[in-house]
Formats: sequence, C-alpha cells, structure tokens
Amino acid sequence: MTNKLDSGVLVVALGSRGSLAAAHELLTAGRSLADTLKERLSAVLLGRPPAEAARDLVERGADKVFVLEHEALSRPDEELQAAALVQLCQKERFGKILFPSSVAGRSLAARLSVKLKAAIATDVFALDAGEAGLKVRRAGYGGNIIGEVEFASPSCVMTLQGMVWPPAPKTPGRAGQVEAVAFAPSATRTEFVSSQAQEAGEIDLGGADLVVSGGRGLGSPEGFKPVRALAKALGAAVGASRAAVDAGWIPYRHQVGLTGRTIRPKLYMACGISGQIQHLAGMSSAKTIVAINSDPECPMMKAATLAVAGDVHEILPLVTGEIMKRRGAAVA
Ligand SMILES: Cc1cc2nc3c(=O)[nH]c(=O)nc-3n(C[C@H](O)[C@H](O)[C@H](O)COP(=O)(O)OP(=O)(O)OC[C@H]3O[C@@H](n4cnc5c(N)ncnc54)[C@H](O)[C@@H]3O)c2cc1C
Repeated sequence: MTNKLDSGVLVVALGSRGSLAAAHELLTAGRSLADTLKERLSAVLLGRPPAEAARDLVERGADKVFVLEHEALSRPDEELQAAALVQLCQKERFGKILFPSSVAGRSLAARLSVKLKAAIATDVFALDAGEAGLKVRRAGYGGNIIGEVEFASPSCVMTLQGMVWPPAPKTPGRAGQVEAVAFAPSATRTEFVSSQAQEAGEIDLGGADLVVSGGRGLGSPEGFKPVRALAKALGAAVGASRAAVDAGWIPYRHQVGLTGRTIRPKLYMACGISGQIQHLAGMSSAKTIVAINSDPECPMMKAATLAVAGDVHEILPLVTGEIMKRRGAAVA
C-alpha cells in the first residue's frame, strides 16, 4: 500500500514536565520550512493538555493545532501515542513530521516512520528546502560525521536537535484553528506501572545556563553530594555521565550525551568525567567548559576552557566554599 502523505508540516508537541520548550524550537524550524515550501504548519498535542497550551502554539506560529484527546495519551505509552499520531497523519496527509531529538521523540519518530512507510532522519541540525526538494544535515557517531540526507519518499519524519533553532516568539492574539480529535485506544502490549516526579526545586538540565556534572571519577553515589552542593551554590543544574547513571548513582534524566540530553549551557563543569566522544556529543557546544580531573591528559581536559588537574573530592568543596564566602553565605 502506498501512503498518501504529501503536504504540510506537523510539529509533534511533546510536553516535558509541563514545558513545551522543545515544541517552541520545532515551531521556529517548522514555520520557516512551511513558509519556504508554501505549506501549512500544524502542531499536535496529546493527552489532556491545559487549555492554554493549544493557544500558545498558535501564538508561536502554528496555523492549526490538533489536540488528540484521551487520558491514556498523557502517559508515556509510545505504542498508543504512535497509533494516535499515525491515525492523524493518515487523515491529514502531512508531508514533514517533526519531533524533538529526545528519547520519546526518537522512539515515536521511528514508530511513525515504519507505520507510515515514511523516510526518517534523526538528529537533524539544518534544513534546506529549495526547488530541488528538501535536504537536511544530521550528525552521526556523536557528531563525528555530518550526513546530508535527501528523501526519496513523498513523506518524511525527522527528529530535530535541541538548542539549534531559537524558541518561536509569541505573537499575542495571532489567529489559528484548534481542533479536538477523539481517539479510541485499543489494547497495547505496554503496561504503565508508575512515574516519579522530579524532585521539587530541581533545575532542569534542558534550559540551564549553568551545569555541574559528575562522572565515574566521583567514585560512588555519595560522590554526587559535593557536585549537588556546588550546583546549589551556583544555581546550576546537575548533569552526569552515562557511567555514573549506569552505576545507579543518579537517575537517567541527568545524563548528558549521545544517549542522554544535548545541552548548550554558558558554563559546563565536568567533574571526574573523562570526555569520551559520546559524552562530548551532548555538551561540547557549551560556551565555557571547566574540567576537574586527576588525569591531565584525558579528552575532557583537552576540550576544556579551564582544566584543573586534581582530585574532585578535594577541589569541589574548596570551590563551593569560596563561592559561598564571596556571596556572604554560610558554608554548608
Ligand atoms: C552507543 C553509546 C552511547 C553512549 N552514550 C553516552 C552518553 O550519552 N553519555 C555519556 O556520558 N556516555 C555515553 N556513553 C559511554 C561513554 O563511552 C563513556 O563510557 C562514559 O562517558 C564514561 O563516563 P565517565 O567519563 O564518567 O567515566 P570514565 O571514562 O571511567 O572516566 C572517569 C574519569 O574520572 C577521572 N577520575 C577518577 N578519579 C578521580 C578523582 N578522584 N578526581 C578527579 N578525577 C577522577 C579519571 O581520570 C577519568 O578521566 C555511550 C557509549 C556508547 C557505546
């Protein structure tokens, strides 16, 4: 069966902890693509989003917002979410479907690509639409190779890297349509067990200007205590290497890198992180990188703006103490 999807750009607005920040970036990319191709730009929300979410997407550039309504779609059941999105895409015949390059975005994009028989390009960081068609550039192997992709199918699915396109600005009162779409879920093979809310007061890695990150060099879960203390003193988010996450020292949501979050903070402090390519893929665009490591020759020390050779356990409390002293606060 050939699919009939061929026109229109769709932004899949996946909320992350109540924030649509990733969707705002997709709307900037989507608006520019739709304008160049002279196509409509739509967005879709899933589950039971607050009433103002659809209006927000219209005011940031969507011509039409679909709300796929069902309580079950609020849960991270990608089988169900993909089924709902496939139904919508088949009906509306979108030609370009944009997801964020998050774990959920990549997973849903892959499912849609298969179900819609649409081409897929992940981790896209540049879109070039011209008379010859659409070409995109994507990063592969942790940013080590750049691939240029042209699509041979009439429709395509893409995941776009975060922090590449600026968030679409809001134009209060901008006109656009909002349409609620009913969805009747069928049984899936996925069972939702539970979800854990982020700790109160925790700064989310995604939009943080300052990040203090820890790796295997911290030695244990307790090793993250001085990392958290420094992050608190600076008002920074806490990041981690995959080695620290895999060891169970810190939850996955803190992981930076190829299979974690891609971030672009003003300051990234890497404490006991060697700087393997998969980690660098998630943070090498940071404006200033400070590395604290006992091995002066490791890749992170080479990538750093400021490399401090020494033991994290000795250096971190000194740095935190100095910051607290300068701010006139009591050292914890
Ligand atoms: C497909 C794939 C995807 C991956 N995705 C990711 C990803 O998203 N993110 C990621 O981080 N990794 C990822 N990895 C894993 C990656 O290759 C590395 O294994 C990992 O980043 C290493 O973590 P680390 O730097 O904490 O540990 P290590 O490489 O073991 O480095 C520990 C560092 O701590 C230093 N150290 C030790 N003791 C001290 C001390 N007391 N004081 C100061 N320094 C000290 C050491 O000198 C060393 O440099 C991926 C790998 C694969 C194959």
